Amino acid sequence: MDVFQQYESEVRSYCRAFPKVFTKAKGAHIHCEDGTRYLDFFAGAGALNYGHNPDLVKQRLIEYLQQDGILHGLDMYTDAKGHFLKSLQERILIPRKLDYRVQFCGPTGTNAVEAALKIARKVKGRRNIFAFQGGYHGMTLGALACTGNAYNRKGASTALPDVTFMPYPFGAMKDIDTIAYIDAVLSDTSSGVDKPAAMVLETIQAEGGVVVAPVEWLQKIRALCDKHDILMIVDDIQVGCGRSGGFFSFERAGIVPDIVTLSKSISGSGLPLAIVLLKPELDKWLPGEHNGTFRGNQLAFVSGVAGIELFEQLNIPKQVEEKSAFVGCELAAIIERVDPRMELRGLGLIWGVDLSPLKNEKLIDVITENCFDAGLIIENAGRKGQVLKLLPPLTVTMDELSLGLEIIERSMKKAL
Ligand code: PMP
Repeated sequence: MDVFQQYESEVRSYCRAFPKVFTKAKGAHIHCEDGTRYLDFFAGAGALNYGHNPDLVKQRLIEYLQQDGILHGLDMYTDAKGHFLKSLQERILIPRKLDYRVQFCGPTGTNAVEAALKIARKVKGRRNIFAFQGGYHGMTLGALACTGNAYNRKGASTALPDVTFMPYPFGAMKDIDTIAYIDAVLSDTSSGVDKPAAMVLETIQAEGGVVVAPVEWLQKIRALCDKHDILMIVDDIQVGCGRSGGFFSFERAGIVPDIVTLSKSISGSGLPLAIVLLKPELDKWLPGEHNGTFRGNQLAFVSGVAGIELFEQLNIPKQVEEKSAFVGCELAAIIERVDPRMELRGLGLIWGVDLSPLKNEKLIDVITENCFDAGLIIENAGRKGQVLKLLPPLTVTMDELSLGLEIIERSMKKAL
């Protein structure tokens, strides 16, 4: 029997079909039933910052299940929820002098974005939102309305209203004073653009092709939000939880958003958990106004506490700093050797090699397939999917990084 037959009834709306059946995973490796294993430079699209099945996470989950811990608790105070909130406050927020309330949304990142947009609109009493060209915030209609990618938006087949796109300092907009432009739009009350309740942005556009916003730009956006009485929502779903070095990606700019969305690696394990951090004065929800059955998965609370401990125990910021320098240098050298027209972008442990200047749209798929054949899982990103995106677990070893980079170079050379 064809081993893939049992998967035929699954709807295919995701990007890539791997010609393998995966069975187990540990650290930076995923194993298949035929005994082969793959180095994972995709890490659950950023959901596995601490790798697959870290020992501490596994141990905590097993203990919790063995003691018949609550698996579904809705709005109840549970032990698991209490521990998670305490850990988040005491180990992450308070040391960074961040004063936020925590809203559990769920189960997935796009749900956190929806809640963030909704509370911003409610608090400010305005409908419009400013989002950024090339940004990615999720696939449900509100989040999709803020997603600046034509391909993703096309399938909505409906109007995606009440969002105005502003320029991100990238590509054709790189040499434009985007801050002056946004300021001018906001200052011109007769322009026809409604004043927004909030601006929603990523400090590094991940799906958008690894586009790193400059620190000064982020600071100026914060200042613009203050000047015009607009809330700043930072979507840290993909680049939060240590990916950029600090726990939050906005730490590098020394700014404090009004609202933060987190998901993916906040559960420490790959289990679904999505949260919104709100400045206390924004907590204007009425009871039952924004609810849902699967908000705050109890197992994800347990593994999330372990994830926060790992962030500290493993000194993730230091690890990321060292590995980032290595990956950045190695990739620059690879580009030099393979084709210097390719463009390198990145920070922390998110790196992108942009193949757009090569003007060969098919190349990227050949490269990712070559990588897979050589034992490396890696994805592409970017408005037109032309960016090879490196997103290994933050706990990846130097040897694994070297091997992955070697495979990338070989795969590029073979494809060209
Ligand atoms: N925001 C950002 C920045 C993301 O990268 C993603 C997922 N790639 C989302 C939102 C949506 O999260 P999810 O896929 O879990 O709904």
